[in-house]
Amino acid sequence: MTTPLELLVLDMAGTTVLDDGVVEQAFQRAAERTGVADRMPWAEALDHVRVTMGQSKIDVFTHLAGGDVAAAERATAAFEGAYAEIVAEQGVTEIPGAADAIQGLKDAGLTVVLTTGFAPVTRDALIDGLGWRGLIDLALSPVDAGRGRPAPDLVLAALVRTQTSSVRAVAVAGDTVSDVESGRRAGAGFVAGVLSGAHDRAALDAAGADAVLDDVTGLRDVLAERGLLRVVAAS
Ligand SMILES: [Mg+2]
Repeated sequence: MTTPLELLVLDMAGTTVLDDGVVEQAFQRAAERTGVADRMPWAEALDHVRVTMGQSKIDVFTHLAGGDVAAAERATAAFEGAYAEIVAEQGVTEIPGAADAIQGLKDAGLTVVLTTGFAPVTRDALIDGLGWRGLIDLALSPVDAGRGRPAPDLVLAALVRTQTSSVRAVAVAGDTVSDVESGRRAGAGFVAGVLSGAHDRAALDAAGADAVLDDVTGLRDVLAERGLLRVVAAS
């Protein structure tokens, strides 16, 4: 028997927030300013950044810095600063239809928590830039939870903070392999990949997604079709 969903854990960049290469640009500025990736060719560093998209930025920089935690911390601070600059220069844009989709999922009875690999300062700048403070129930960064993705901590922290009754009542959606893995490791009842961000269908399927959607706007219909919503109103 299926457990009706109570909580939806949604990733930010590439899932609900348009990325358009902003994360990669911020990584490049941070690398230029701190030399954190100087021990490897830039193409190799960029490939690591792409493959690990969705993970905690401090973890990614620790790898690039060859395990030098102090260098990784400097680079993470530079990344957060560069990301804020780029957001100030270019503005922040939702994945088209994301706010309406989130509202529709809330109308269907779900609590919605946003999760990210960004630090709280960057996360909050994005949420304020989008005017989503009143739309979402909660937003969590790795520092709020313990470990970043692909560990299950962000999903489980969202469950605890929202007093959701069971891991089976949690759905997770995100654009990266790490999002899908974090949902699977948390025991979530439904895990969706979306193609609006970093990783492709083959990668998201291989990570164990229950469904791979073009973007977040299709999520409510898929959950309704599978009988996972308690409130099934016309969309
Ligand atoms: Mg993402």
